[in-house]
Amino acid sequence: MDKTLIIGNWKMYHNMHDASMLLHTLSRQVKSHRNVETVVCPNYLVLQSLSLQINHRIMKLGAQNCYWKDEGAYTGEISASMLRGLVKYVLVGHSERRHVFGEHERDTRHKVQAVVRNNMEAVLCIGETAHERADGETKHVLHDQIVSGLSNVTSEEIEHVTLAYEPVWAIGTGDNANPSDVKEAAAVIRKQVTALFGVKAAKKVRILYGGSVKESTAKQYLSVPDIDGLLIGGASLDAHQFANIVEIAHNNHKQE
Ligand code: PEP
Repeated sequence: MDKTLIIGNWKMYHNMHDASMLLHTLSRQVKSHRNVETVVCPNYLVLQSLSLQINHRIMKLGAQNCYWKDEGAYTGEISASMLRGLVKYVLVGHSERRHVFGEHERDTRHKVQAVVRNNMEAVLCIGETAHERADGETKHVLHDQIVSGLSNVTSEEIEHVTLAYEPVWAIGTGDNANPSDVKEAAAVIRKQVTALFGVKAAKKVRILYGGSVKESTAKQYLSVPDIDGLLIGGASLDAHQFANIVEIAHNNHKQE
């Protein structure tokens, strides 16, 4: 398998000073491993400055969102083309974008395409709400989000897309998804990508799990077949914990 991907989503935390301090601490605690790629996604405001501070051999930068038009009268937005050269990854369709800010499937699909068109890696976040889960709708929700989110992506571009399975009810709640449910969801995702892009492409696509992952639970998710990494919110703001998760990923790396 490719490298295990560990992404930290700092959400709307940390001003310039605090973000710089956190990066400084992370640079001392996170080890560089050949089999792990480590990424942090701070807020837009600090990206430029952190891009000068970051040790690219240890960590890469990602953005938490973007807009899909290159430029124009879109007050408050930052385009994918503006992020080009600054970050390697861009999160798209994070549940907080979808459910707090009402982002639609249409936005998500345009954003995935804009990220890839601008030579960055898109991390398309998908997952069911608690209601959808209770109604037994998880598979349908994942199917629809994948079909829609990847509808502007070609079979050449799919290798620049990572899928993050993030059940909405598990994000920031401390609720732990059952690894067997994660296994089932990841298999559904891989199967759907296979149906859209073929076996070879689907094998290469990385699938992450995210939702209240901590140092104590990282291993159980990394051991799930079809899970190639983690998207970590809250725990990524704790340098010690995040560095330990990177070590767990290193020790748990799945061989081909
Ligand atoms: C996230 O922000 O994508 C996330 C998974 O957050 P948390 O780990 O805090 O649930």
